[in-house]
Amino acid sequence: MKVKKGIGVSGGAAIASAIVLDTEEFEIPERHVPVDNTKAELDRLKRAIGVSRKEILDLRKRTAEKLGKETAGIFDFHLGLLDDKQLFKQFSETILNGQVTAEYAVANVLRGYAGDFRQMPEYLAERVKDVYDVEKRLLRNLIGQRRQSLKHLTRNAAVIAHDMTPSQTAGLDREHVVGLAIDAGGPTSHTAIVAKAMDIPAVVGLNDVTAEVSGGDRVIIDGSRGIVIIDPDEETVERYRQIAVRQSEFLHSLDALRELPAITSDGHEVRLQGNIEFPYEVRTVLDKGGQGIGLYRTEFLFLGSDVEPTEDDHYKAYCDVLEECGERPVAIRTIDLGADKFTQARARIPERNPFLGLRSIRYCFQHLQMFKTQLRAIMRAAVRGNISVMFPLITNLLEMRQAKTIVRDVVEDLEEEGIEHRNDVPLGMMVETPSAALQCDGFAREVDFFSIGTNDLVQYTLAVDRSNEQVAPMFTVADPAVLRLIQEIIRAGQRHDVPVSLCGEMAGDPIYTILLLGLGLRSFSCSPPAIPEIKKIIRSVTMEQAVKVAQRVLSFDSDKEVVNFLRTETRRIVPEALVE
Ligand code: PEP
Ligand code: MG
Repeated sequence: MKVKKGIGVSGGAAIASAIVLDTEEFEIPERHVPVDNTKAELDRLKRAIGVSRKEILDLRKRTAEKLGKETAGIFDFHLGLLDDKQLFKQFSETILNGQVTAEYAVANVLRGYAGDFRQMPEYLAERVKDVYDVEKRLLRNLIGQRRQSLKHLTRNAAVIAHDMTPSQTAGLDREHVVGLAIDAGGPTSHTAIVAKAMDIPAVVGLNDVTAEVSGGDRVIIDGSRGIVIIDPDEETVERYRQIAVRQSEFLHSLDALRELPAITSDGHEVRLQGNIEFPYEVRTVLDKGGQGIGLYRTEFLFLGSDVEPTEDDHYKAYCDVLEECGERPVAIRTIDLGADKFTQARARIPERNPFLGLRSIRYCFQHLQMFKTQLRAIMRAAVRGNISVMFPLITNLLEMRQAKTIVRDVVEDLEEEGIEHRNDVPLGMMVETPSAALQCDGFAREVDFFSIGTNDLVQYTLAVDRSNEQVAPMFTVADPAVLRLIQEIIRAGQRHDVPVSLCGEMAGDPIYTILLLGLGLRSFSCSPPAIPEIKKIIRSVTMEQAVKVAQRVLSFDSDKEVVNFLRTETRRIVPEALVE
């Protein structure tokens, strides 16, 4: 039995046999297959070559149409590699003689090939990039075939991967994938957020769990403690069975709260809503007792697809959400692409420091047509329900004004075209950069509401990449500087009578609920599975208790003190909470 420590990002525990995924960015370990399976590996390789060939032909055609035949000619070299008989012979000999997987053969042979090119004169050395491109494509098609098979699982499994994109995670078979363990990733990476929304126990930032687990190994994934136990002994398995029983009893005990309001025990009303990435999640939010949608991450409409959604795709998605929500409020966050959320096309062009790069509102301003398409759909859908719009990653007043001007343009266009729409949709902003937090007084005159995005606020305040496992221990919302900024935003909202909500992961972490109430927050939006426990805590505390807790917390000068104090106080005030 071996215990590996990572970062727990989605609570609960699962015991299951492992499925290990390799990825295109990863050193493919030498994995042997029984001699009887080598033929099947060769067939997989042939299929992957066929699919890759079709993809490249298609790409060449599209490039020729857009940029001319000469530019499209770069793909001839890729096709040449795939058709190269000598190369295929090397692949097949590696598989058959070495009894290894097709992906190992591809990586091994092509990396050798790339090495040969590197030694050549400069004009040929350039070809190394093309060899890597072909390698990636082949691996994607090989591993993609395996990922497909994840869709047809017939038994429960724990998925072990080097890294997964948010859309890959969203595509997992919720019925059979019972746990997730990932080498890469930080506490609020979007992959982690999606796992939490799907209520799959998940641990990220494990560094090398893929190298230590083989397919079929029994593993325990403990998302509450952030550990993965490989090949657990019977005593440990039994302990985890008991933990599972306790957790399920606790969750059942919360069912009774579903229809009850989120109101403190001395009568202060709180708005408790859910975050969603896809329209179908609205049902879970409502089932869990949420009062509406406080954050709809609409960029998920783009992920995993090569084509941009049309205005009608947007419109349909928003109408689906509104139909399910009835009169309840829905805060649509405009496209927040970039950083760890990219379209398939953009995924192929990595950006340096992507979290400081062309993301969110900046990306929208540079892709105005795409942005306007979304805004048109929102304004049209708005006639069907209670919509508000918020813009991500606003860092200065001009950006907010520019976003509002674009909304006005879109509304004018719709008016001229005689298309039914609303022109009075409330416009708010995510406060998720220190610059925005420090200027809330100015922003208060520009916006109808604030929504605090603590995931980004932490990363930009503490200079800690939210998706980088190397610095994950430094990523904490309990840092005194972060807490001070949150307090400032809430106070600015109170001063100017601008509603303030909080939709970062902090809103769904029960440790912080009392503190946030004490700081004056009256609107929370969190991952759907977290709603019942947050409601339980809100209903168990008085405002006087919460204010005292907040005052004390603001006197601490380290995140450790804050967390220890909050854990103790929460357990004292709500003994049933924070079940482990
Ligand atoms: C945040 O940054 O806190 C937030 C809610 O937005 P996202 O996690 O999508 O960046
Ligand atoms: Mg954000």
